[in-house]
Amino acid sequence: MKTVRIKGSSEQIPVGKIVCIGQNYAEHIKEMKGEIPKSPVFFLKPSTAIVHNGGEIVLPSVSHDVHHEVELTVLIGKDGKNIPQNAAMSHVLGYGVGLDMTLRDVQSEAKKKGLPWTLAKGFDTSAPFSEFIPASEVSNPGTLHLQLKVNGFVRQSSGTHDLIFSVDTLIAYLSQFITLERGDVLFTGTPQGVAQVKSGDNLEASLRDSTGKPLASLSVHVH
Ligand code: MG
Repeated sequence: MKTVRIKGSSEQIPVGKIVCIGQNYAEHIKEMKGEIPKSPVFFLKPSTAIVHNGGEIVLPSVSHDVHHEVELTVLIGKDGKNIPQNAAMSHVLGYGVGLDMTLRDVQSEAKKKGLPWTLAKGFDTSAPFSEFIPASEVSNPGTLHLQLKVNGFVRQSSGTHDLIFSVDTLIAYLSQFITLERGDVLFTGTPQGVAQVKSGDNLEASLRDSTGKPLASLSVHVH
């Protein structure tokens, strides 16, 4: 069983579901030539997709166009169903940074045919994420900064104030359909700048607060 840790705690929390939000930054929707959704779009990744800090992404031979998507991640700490928006933040245990690795060619084919994105989004090693920092250390998840460097060059850089659906909105909406449980991880969508990764690339993702102070970081190698 895959587990996650909150910084400063020795508790190993078993990961339940990994729920990802697609299309949550207007500039990324533009670059994908999509439309701004009226309600959030969700998909799942299996726990076999998890890669921890220092690990490796393995490019599947079935794809020739694997993209990085840097995202704010949220660790759920408390079970809940039909969570009201004004109580949503009490269900958050921690925040971190993750990469929603995507087989863009496989996803485009699925989109064309109106088929699910499961294989394009849920393949082995498609969910690298950092350890989580306690939610108590983040006063407002809408004022954070995400950055991804590939081989030392900045590829994605954006503030979470650009999120179309905020963290509390996502939790309230999602929990009408799916019970959230302690150990579930949410990926909250990627800003613009998604691009292809190649074998040998080093990916360094970071989450900073509004003053630039580092909160969480993730470093992974592409096999
Ligand atoms: Mg994504």
